[in-house]
Amino acid sequence: MSDPQPSLLPDSKPASGQAGADGRVSAYRVLARAYRPQRFSELIGQEALVRTLSNAMRTGRIAHAFLLTGIRGVGKTTTARIIARALNCIGPDGTGGATPEPCGECEHCRAIADGRHIDILEMDAATHTGIDDIRELVDSVRYAPTSARYKVYIVDEVHMLSEKAFNGLLKTLEEPPSQTLFIFATTEVRKVPITVLSRCQRFDLRRIEGDVLARYFRTIADREGIEIDDAALALICRAAEGSARDGLSLLDQAIALGGGTAINVEAVQDMLGLADRKRVLDLFEHIMRGHLKASLAGLADLYERGSEPEAVVHDLLEISHWLTRLKVADQSEETAGTAWDAARGEAMAKALSYGVLSRAWQMLLKGLDDLRIAPSPLLATEMLIVRLAHAADLPTPEMLLNVTQGGGAGGLGAPSSESKGSPASKGDAEAAASPPMSSGPERAMFSVPPPPEAKKESSERSGADESGNGHQPAHNGTAVEPPSDNVAVKTFEDAVLLFKAHAKPLFYGWLHGQARLVHFEFGKIELQRGDMMLAERRQEMAACLREWTGQPWQVVEVDGPGAPSLTEQEAMAKEQRLAELSDDPRLKPLLDAFPGAQIIDVQPASPIANGNPEHTVT
Ligand SMILES: [Zn+2]
Repeated sequence: MSDPQPSLLPDSKPASGQAGADGRVSAYRVLARAYRPQRFSELIGQEALVRTLSNAMRTGRIAHAFLLTGIRGVGKTTTARIIARALNCIGPDGTGGATPEPCGECEHCRAIADGRHIDILEMDAATHTGIDDIRELVDSVRYAPTSARYKVYIVDEVHMLSEKAFNGLLKTLEEPPSQTLFIFATTEVRKVPITVLSRCQRFDLRRIEGDVLARYFRTIADREGIEIDDAALALICRAAEGSARDGLSLLDQAIALGGGTAINVEAVQDMLGLADRKRVLDLFEHIMRGHLKASLAGLADLYERGSEPEAVVHDLLEISHWLTRLKVADQSEETAGTAWDAARGEAMAKALSYGVLSRAWQMLLKGLDDLRIAPSPLLATEMLIVRLAHAADLPTPEMLLNVTQGGGAGGLGAPSSESKGSPASKGDAEAAASPPMSSGPERAMFSVPPPPEAKKESSERSGADESGNGHQPAHNGTAVEPPSDNVAVKTFEDAVLLFKAHAKPLFYGWLHGQARLVHFEFGKIELQRGDMMLAERRQEMAACLREWTGQPWQVVEVDGPGAPSLTEQEAMAKEQRLAELSDDPRLKPLLDAFPGAQIIDVQPASPIANGNPEHTVT
């Protein structure tokens, strides 16, 4: 990383909305910088690494090269900087030696923190991949450190170096000059040549456990004076996927959305594009109950709200997997940090048998294949749901077995009051593959036709659409096109919605809530410079779009000014609608009739809504 750190605050001070060194006001507080750990003891979730390195510092047995591997945002670069400081700290009085607890006050500590120490060189191999860059670096190795005890070379994303560059480096690694230390960081250790690997002491930085992250974020929220409920925190931790920095980035966004004081779970769900999760869980339950009409309505509703059919099927798959895990494992373990409703999950897991869940899994998986070749993913998903809902009425293999053995027929298609399908007390999956079936109300053993109106509805729907040759049903309430190999992405918003549809909450949240668009064209998104997320993750975002659309994409940083974020635009549009409505003569009598009534929300009318008014006024 070559950019200097303009605002590395000591960890004890709260991060406040601050201007960057160049006077640009940051769009939001950057917690990841404000709370960047400054000593080994502050690194969270990396106990093994901390122990080993602390011991090495105390005993003075320092390797000549370290390799730090791990996913993004677990603290590789941070650890590298701490090592540089630990080796070079001279203590507040200028007489100290290498220490696992660098003082943070001496000239070396401060210069390293500011990224301006002459003996600590940071290089991003992602942008300096060539032999010339390495030659320059290797040449400088010959000179002793200027003022520090150790000269430290930090090479980020080292796997990006070219073969020649690696070879150039190898010679130096074979005969490392004293008082020189190389620290390599990489997300993809398999791409680092074995010759280099074998000369490094390797540390694997693990994904940080959800509960560790939760405790850490809770501490930070407390210090910042932010109220955040546990459920909201759990959602953030889950979306962070073990990365402290990604999690802090999300926390930043949530704070910005919450006006800087309180964060509730609804706001975070919205921010992460997870509000639909409850609806998907409803859908799963309808399907498992065999309620065909409600299932199809649930799918239509999700589709109107912008969910891709494929994403819905993915979610249903995830739910069936999650419920199965819930049955097998210690429940508190499985529900911690989940984005699904834990209490509901436990109830559903109890009511559904392994047989039903694994059958649902298989049908969904098969359905996903059908989806890819079907002319309309929505139609294919509707048919899949019809099949699944029917299957809810079919006997499971274990029921049939039970019947042939003369036992009673315990229907398991639908959740019911008691835990008839729950695993045997030991809870092991093998035993539970044929759970006791005796209790529970009798259910139909064979396929029961769906309620007549539902059947009619579904056949009408698919019939009409087939004759229309791929035409979508009339409910195209949002801008999202159904996915195909060449997804039509006509606007920036379309592109952002793809991140939601593909369950990339971190990117979706940032793109929707923070990103300021300067220019959009198919294949290229230009966003206003000045955001850590953009600087560090834009290539990943572009890679996602490339994967989903099959076309090359660029996400570019440019000097602004950019448009307001999508979230801001939505808020402004809503305000405007409200303003217009309050002048609407049709509403006047209504408002007069209810003194004190206020218009607080406006929703566009739904095209297939049954009897909805043009606007929903609350
Ligand atoms: Zn120091």
